[in-house]
Amino acid sequence: MPQPFLLAAADSPLLGNLQVLKAGTPTRREQLQRLGITTVADLLLHLPRTYEDLSAIRTIATLKAGEVQVVQGEVVEIDGRRLADGRSVVSIVINDGSPGSLEGSWFNQPFISGQFNYGQRVSFTGKPKWFRDHWQMANPKWEKLDAGAALPAPGIVPIYPMTEHLRPESLRTIMRQAVDRFAPQTVDIVPDRLLRERHFPSLHAAFRNVHFPASMEAARIARERFSYEEFLVLQAALALRRRDLRDQQNAPSLTCTPEIDARIRRLFPFALTVDQDQAIRDICFDLASKRPMQRLLQADVGAGKTAVAVYAMLVAIANKHQTALMAPTEVLARQHAHTLDRYLAKSRVRRALLTGALTAAERRKLLADLAEGNLDLVIGTQALVSEDVKFARLGLAVIDEQHKFGVHQRAKMRSSGNDPHYLVMTATPIPRTVALTVFGDLDCSTMHQLPPGRKPVRTRIVPKNQRQRLYQQLAEELKQGKQAYVVCPLVEESANLDLTAAQQHYEDLKASVFKDFRLGLLHGRMAESGKDEVMKQFREGKIDLLVTTMVIEVGVDVANATWMLIEHAERFGLSQLHQMRGRISRGEAAGNCILFANPTTDEARNRLRIFTRNNNGFTLAEEDAKLRGLGEFFGARQHGLGELRFGDILADRELLQKARRDAIALVADDAGLSKPENRLLRQMVIQRYGTTLDLATVG
Ligand code: ADP
Ligand code: MG
Repeated sequence: MPQPFLLAAADSPLLGNLQVLKAGTPTRREQLQRLGITTVADLLLHLPRTYEDLSAIRTIATLKAGEVQVVQGEVVEIDGRRLADGRSVVSIVINDGSPGSLEGSWFNQPFISGQFNYGQRVSFTGKPKWFRDHWQMANPKWEKLDAGAALPAPGIVPIYPMTEHLRPESLRTIMRQAVDRFAPQTVDIVPDRLLRERHFPSLHAAFRNVHFPASMEAARIARERFSYEEFLVLQAALALRRRDLRDQQNAPSLTCTPEIDARIRRLFPFALTVDQDQAIRDICFDLASKRPMQRLLQADVGAGKTAVAVYAMLVAIANKHQTALMAPTEVLARQHAHTLDRYLAKSRVRRALLTGALTAAERRKLLADLAEGNLDLVIGTQALVSEDVKFARLGLAVIDEQHKFGVHQRAKMRSSGNDPHYLVMTATPIPRTVALTVFGDLDCSTMHQLPPGRKPVRTRIVPKNQRQRLYQQLAEELKQGKQAYVVCPLVEESANLDLTAAQQHYEDLKASVFKDFRLGLLHGRMAESGKDEVMKQFREGKIDLLVTTMVIEVGVDVANATWMLIEHAERFGLSQLHQMRGRISRGEAAGNCILFANPTTDEARNRLRIFTRNNNGFTLAEEDAKLRGLGEFFGARQHGLGELRFGDILADRELLQKARRDAIALVADDAGLSKPENRLLRQMVIQRYGTTLDLATVG
């Protein structure tokens, strides 16, 4: 296994085990292994969690009240007792040879007394306070000082993520050896010019400064260099991929003449918004080129992405090419088919819906028609990328609501004559920095505007004791002909429980408050034909109230449904909530979004508060990322690019931008990164991302 973060020849001692280090005793090696450290390279890359500034070391005699200081001394008293109020307190008194003594005290941590021995050397870090005749520190940070090992020179001491039993000084000693002997052998992949321009140290110096810094500033810069390098490799990979895609000239040039434009616009029952027009201009520009378009269309829920997609597809068809629309679920595929039926009622576009509901014979016929070019437009799910789906002349593939899929899961459709253009649409606005990473290989069009006449949804949390009142109010609305969703969350991610929850709730509502209304149930485990039937009835107004699970999360569009009740709202993330709420902001009437919730944490309360006060998906996405630390995008590895080890996309966003600019400039100047000064960077890019990103540059 090559080290994914350091370049080294196969026989380099960097990749060898820790035996080469004097301090690498078998016990220590085993302890280190528990930290995932088996090679010298692993050890060097085990960066300190933080630092202790021992330049703040004081003698007890020279302590000052109220500022953080460090004292090193010898334990002279160990005392544990119970206070009148029942709390336990441990106090440890130390002397350091200067006049006076220092008492560290810990409340309700009786085990601490067992950690100390008389005569042992320790350091206490904290804010001292003068009490009667001596200094005290409450809950000082403390560390045992090894009698044998040299004391860390007063200066900055690295604090590492630790494992039990491994003494901090032992790790520092072995790290010192590794840095002295092996850091000079590391290979720097960042081109010198960039290091100079960005004022970063060489890799060798960075290892020294990150482990044994001369100043906090040196440590900060060294650490930043590791993040920068990581971002640079990622962004270079994305830039290379863009380049690869652009170098292909195998897409059909699809042009949009004024006649075609006029013909398409006549099909829409509304005028396009300024943002829709702009997105269409971007797309038409790309489609006219023989370079396959790779464009991301980003917009808030309800901004009207479908119309833009339909426009683009009709341009392809007008140019005698086929087009495909891929949706994440069958429900959405059917809905798109339905929407297209409306727009294209008077056109001669030959279209079909590829779903699991087709019989074998129907499916065979459809596939044959596609392969022979007898169909212009096909709508479907992931099934569109199956092996047996072949197009005669696929001009444009549109992939809807695909925020969940990162670079390498992206669909590839098979066309015999050429490469298609790709338009990817995402419903969940994602923070820009994240977009650059997850969709960094795509061009991006963003629509901020909603179609005119939309009223913001009113969102509120309804307490338990007002639930019945709310139901009465909703019943009145349903009598007026309005429709509503009741959303139940997935319970414990278990499909079975999820079904029970929704099913049970449906039965309950049907048997009580809403017994005079027509209720429907829609959940993920129903057969596709069943879902289809329920959605159809809901669309046609034959169902007043639809009890459902997350199936309706994205894309469903029923303008008359203006109420949404969300059960256990605390279980949903902000983006999910916003997605769902998007279902009821479609028509001219203002929607009402009602949250039933039992938040038990501050985080959950905060999340719901943010949600009720905010209608903008882009703002919510930023908040969501802050709250959940990008779990949505990175925790589940949905982007397919692996974890970042040093950089933090949100916290280091400026650094990420710099790395991105540098990577783009590098690739613009040296398309294959084959110049000598870029070769090592290229090698690392390929090592880390070659396969995932399918880089043609490999080899
Ligand atoms: P999303 O971007 O969430 O996919 P949709 O494409 O489903 O949004 O559009 C949401 C609703 O807005 C649909 O009912 C659609 O008919 C309507 N719509 C789209 N564009 C316009 C427009 N320019 N003017 C008025 N209504 C529009
Ligand atoms: Mg949509």
